[in-house]
Amino acid sequence: MVDEKTEKIQKLMKQKDKIRNIAIAAHIDHGKTTFSDNLLAGAGMISEELAGKQLVLDFHGDEAERGITIDSANVSMVHNVKGEDHLINLIDTPGHVDFGGDVTRAMRAVDGCIILTCAVEGVMPQTETVVRQALKELVKPVLFINKVDRLIKEVKLTPQAMQEKFIKIIDHVNELIENIAPEGYKEKWKVGVGEGTVAFGSAFHNWALSFDYMKEHNITFKDVIDAYENDNHKELAKKAPLHEVVLNMSITHHPNPVDAQEYRVPKIWHGDLNSELGKGLINCDPNAEPTFVPIKIVIDKHAGEVAAGRLFSGTIKQGDEVYMNLAKRKTRVQQVSVYKGAQRVVVDEVSAGNIVGIVGLKNIFVGETVSKNEVEPFESIKHIFEPVITKSIEAKKAADLPKLVEVLKQIGKEDPSIRIEINEQTGESLMSGMGELHLEIIENRIKTEKGLDVKTSPPIVVYRETVG
Ligand code: GDP
Repeated sequence: MVDEKTEKIQKLMKQKDKIRNIAIAAHIDHGKTTFSDNLLAGAGMISEELAGKQLVLDFHGDEAERGITIDSANVSMVHNVKGEDHLINLIDTPGHVDFGGDVTRAMRAVDGCIILTCAVEGVMPQTETVVRQALKELVKPVLFINKVDRLIKEVKLTPQAMQEKFIKIIDHVNELIENIAPEGYKEKWKVGVGEGTVAFGSAFHNWALSFDYMKEHNITFKDVIDAYENDNHKELAKKAPLHEVVLNMSITHHPNPVDAQEYRVPKIWHGDLNSELGKGLINCDPNAEPTFVPIKIVIDKHAGEVAAGRLFSGTIKQGDEVYMNLAKRKTRVQQVSVYKGAQRVVVDEVSAGNIVGIVGLKNIFVGETVSKNEVEPFESIKHIFEPVITKSIEAKKAADLPKLVEVLKQIGKEDPSIRIEINEQTGESLMSGMGELHLEIIENRIKTEKGLDVKTSPPIVVYRETVG
């Protein structure tokens, strides 16, 4: 039986003007995971008490232990603004340099991003990298300045100095937008307090404010400072809940998928825009032929590989036969699913403009274009970072070497973010990927699906940044 929340999500995913697909772009440790948990809790997806402590988005046990977010996982939330429900599909993008590939991929699937910076540290190199990635994909930014509690408690700023600090951060972000955004977006996409595209707060203490919200609720900078001096920040969190302020900002200032695809599709898909499919993509039409771009492959204990990605056009159902344009193979969809909070829920069909999970796309890779018939694939997802983790791989039995070479060549062709260096003489080849998990998935596929007995070396990490 489908529960009430899933039913609501299914209904909303067909109302395109009510959907926002967003990601968070931040430097590591600026509070992205705490912030995402807060949004989820606020939208009733986890208990508010646990927000910031539960780290729902750190699915893997080892991630929680290390305290960094490895994967970009999708979560979907229902948020009500002025009596109208909206569906927010949020991809948590990791901020660590090591996983730059995930950040780029996430940007392909979203139309808006929240640039999150720490109020004390301001814009850092990784913030800049992610903003660059977002703008390249024509993803519209808004800004959230986090950890404002530290400005008050540790740095002891006056209301005046606090505002000056914010202005400095906003100017820095706008300088980046001016330098990086494509022509036509440099001015239009600058963020500003007056425009309502900047908010600030403390994800740790569950509150946020924007200029509009301060005016509407009669809250001043002095009130914020007083809340800490009187040890009363819980009251502030009740008056100005983070999720309310931030999700309102996203719904008001981020585009819905129909508006976004109109200008994003010509930038990231180079087929004929006047063809049936071209029109379907530009209009985000659920009745057009389906076009799906996976941006993340997750292993589900029960279902196997789940391809999470953006459905740009059409509708997909269980049992549909689809074509993978890079691998040049047909395959059959076993399950289609949506996300309820961080949980994947199997549904009858999924439709254009959403971030969904699909099971059964055999040996799928990120950046593939999945369609009904052969089509012009989406532009390849360019990585600002080159693969950073390398492992050597060799066949346990010398007789398997030719087969391993063939399998590695195939993988190198299908997965644009893996690099393979084959040494046919020594039999020891090198594979480089975007992270350990990425290489684990590849290794697992070679063993289980290709039936090859291989051994690999421990991973070697190499940091190499290239010009994006
Ligand atoms: P991520 O690496 O960007 O995902 O950052 P996390 O959410 O893991 O947060 C990094 C650290 O900053 C953790 O110790 C959090 O508790 C802390 N943190 C996050 N938000 C805030 C905040 O608003 N104020 C303060 N003081 N600490 C915060």
